[in-house]
Amino acid sequence: MKGRVYKSTGSWYKIKLENGEFIDCRTRGKLKLSASKITNPVTVGDFVEVVHDAQHEGTGIIESIYPRQNYVLRKSVHKSGHGHMIAANIDQALLVVTLKNPRTSTGFIDRFLVSTEAFRIPTVLVFNKLDLFDDEDFIALEELIEIYESIGVTCLDISAKQEINIDKVVEVLESRTTLISGHSGTGKSTLVNLLAPHVEQTVKEISKFADKGVHTTTFAEMFELEPNTLIIDTPGIKELGLMDIDENELSDYFPEMRALLGKCKFHNCKHLHEPKCAVREAVENGDISVSRYYSYLSMLEDSDTHR
Ligand code: GDP
Ligand code: ZN
Repeated sequence: MKGRVYKSTGSWYKIKLENGEFIDCRTRGKLKLSASKITNPVTVGDFVEVVHDAQHEGTGIIESIYPRQNYVLRKSVHKSGHGHMIAANIDQALLVVTLKNPRTSTGFIDRFLVSTEAFRIPTVLVFNKLDLFDDEDFIALEELIEIYESIGVTCLDISAKQEINIDKVVEVLESRTTLISGHSGTGKSTLVNLLAPHVEQTVKEISKFADKGVHTTTFAEMFELEPNTLIIDTPGIKELGLMDIDENELSDYFPEMRALLGKCKFHNCKHLHEPKCAVREAVENGDISVSRYYSYLSMLEDSDTHR
């Protein structure tokens, strides 16, 4: 039977079968890990082949995993240099951010965008808490939206609390599988509850998992808004991990810098202090945003210190 993983607690997987039924499954023995440096074999969003477990009625066993269209990782907390798959087969990521109460830094946004770019996943930025904005905030918002739309990121401005522009969010989610992220306080839960009021029902199912002696709070879970419209909530996951991005490759994940590939004097230009650097010229001309360039520098510095 073919199914899709809606939730994983590490040892149990909640799987929706093609007939619409949900079944709790385990893996048989050791499923092969898909790649080196990845710590889990199965993740939310995976399509799998399962059989009924003859020994434990009502449960199933995952026999195999279908090839993944893509996946996102976070850094493994147990094994340094390793990644843990958060979700697979996703069409887009949606990041909830705020300009105030709390303020999401552009550094955080840009880091997230580099990860999704590296995993080749289109991203939607949702600026929440519009209801708190004064005139100055609206000007700042417009500037940010201009920067991000110019690099191909869809931007929405909403208020989850006052239910402003929620229809636009519903529209971008339609018929897709979307990973929803955001650091705490941005209103991600408020938004998810608005989109999927039936989520509470699954909270009860989570406690069923908890009975099996598993911690459940930091696991991603997939919810259905419509039969083909799925969201994956990622409680407790602050940022996506980056695996193996070489400092010479970092600018490839900034689309506006990638567009200038080959235009710098030196082919291995890191866009720091090298002469005739097309990226720095673009920053000086205003074609590349200063804040994006600073994010680039800061990520470059981090990759230095981690080497
Ligand atoms: P999460 O940590 O990202 O899941 O955020 P929550 O959904 O728990 O929201 C954090 C706080 O922000 C709560 O007090 C919410 O009521 C509040 N909040 C969420 N959305 C909005 C909004 O659109 N406007 C305002 N003013 N507050 C909001
Ligand atoms: Zn350069």
